[in-house]
Amino acid sequence: MKQIAILGSTGSIGTQALNVIRRHRDRYGVEVLVAGSNAELLVQQAREFSPNVVVIADKSKWQQVRDALIDTDVKVFAGQEAVLDAMTMGSIDLVLSSIVGFAGLRPTLRAIESGHAIALSNKETLVVAGNVITEAAVAHGVDLLPVDSEHSAIFQSLVGEAGIVGSTPFANAVDKILLTASGGPFFGRDRASLQHVTLQEALRHPKWSMGQKVTIDSATLMNKGLEVIEAQWLFGVDVSRIEVWVHPQSIVHSMVQFADGAIKAQLGTPTMETPIQYAFSYPERVESHLPRFNFADHPHLEFFPPDTQTFRCLSLAYESARRGGNIPCAMNAANEVAVQRFVEGRLSFLGIADFVEQAVQRVSFVAKPSLDDLLATDAEVRAFLSV
Ligand code: NDP
Repeated sequence: MKQIAILGSTGSIGTQALNVIRRHRDRYGVEVLVAGSNAELLVQQAREFSPNVVVIADKSKWQQVRDALIDTDVKVFAGQEAVLDAMTMGSIDLVLSSIVGFAGLRPTLRAIESGHAIALSNKETLVVAGNVITEAAVAHGVDLLPVDSEHSAIFQSLVGEAGIVGSTPFANAVDKILLTASGGPFFGRDRASLQHVTLQEALRHPKWSMGQKVTIDSATLMNKGLEVIEAQWLFGVDVSRIEVWVHPQSIVHSMVQFADGAIKAQLGTPTMETPIQYAFSYPERVESHLPRFNFADHPHLEFFPPDTQTFRCLSLAYESARRGGNIPCAMNAANEVAVQRFVEGRLSFLGIADFVEQAVQRVSFVAKPSLDDLLATDAEVRAFLSV
């Protein structure tokens, strides 16, 4: 029985992960559940899955959660420090990192330092601190198993491409990573037509039902930019070898081209439950009830180059990755603030890219940032953007 801790159990990924666990109760148990502020759903999840520990980051909700679970053995904690401490409690085999945004970084790092395998959904963790996270994973002998559908597809395409045959080790060279993008709700639109788009329009994603922040990032293509940086760290491939292709059908989840020109891809209907389940079961594949893909239903699979003139966030992310150091961290902080302002109606959709670009220009460059440098960069960007 694999005991799982879920950071962000009340979110889109967290609830889908619990669907996977519900169907495989013989394989997976729930040791820890962590939520931000949704006390009602956390209580409901705790009653159904009987974890050892639950944590609610919002301290004002502690009493509510504790009272609702008073007749159970579940231990209830609250606050950001308790989120970190929970990563060292109980007997955890795997941590699903699915808090949204920068807030996921420290709990994920604590989980790695505690020696737990990570199923990584929170892409911002690698964008902000790719060097710190990958070095910590190596130092603690911890697997980083991708959950993002594109990265899971790349990971699955790489299985079997390095190893030992007889006594001869081999590692096949990757020529390119081909990262697919749905294009989001505004695929095919030009800048003029995006001048006055609303929050509701930005949230109407054609293929995926996701949390608010990642849905808006998908509309601006910042999500794809974050994924380029995530792929760079997960697979050790320079961004110059990572190409983005808009694939509106979202059937080919991503591809890898090898030195001989051969391309391997992973395909399937768009659901996050498949990559979540694979991260939980790796290296095994286990039964899934989800509907099987049928080519007859999808006779046209299309691929287009991204329009980086209209969706400037993607080029900003490439540029940040090329500059490296603490620049992706600064970009991420500026993007989180920009998305929040767009949600609040204080910034236009097209304004998000301008806002991020200007913020990144103001930050002082640190070539090889420590965790403290990155925490300082994030705080610096949020501080000057708040005035
Ligand atoms: P949601 O907004 O749906 O959920 C976020 C989760 O994080 C919630 O459980 C929320 O708690 C919790 N949370 C937020 N802030 C804190 C905090 N400070 N401390 C503890 N918990 C906190 O996001 P998604 O599930 O959509 O996305 C999660 C991550 O996965 C993101 O990084 C996203 O980019 C990535 N991802 C998501 C995909 C998807 O299909 N949704 C696909 C691929 C990647 P509460 O709601 O209780 O406040």
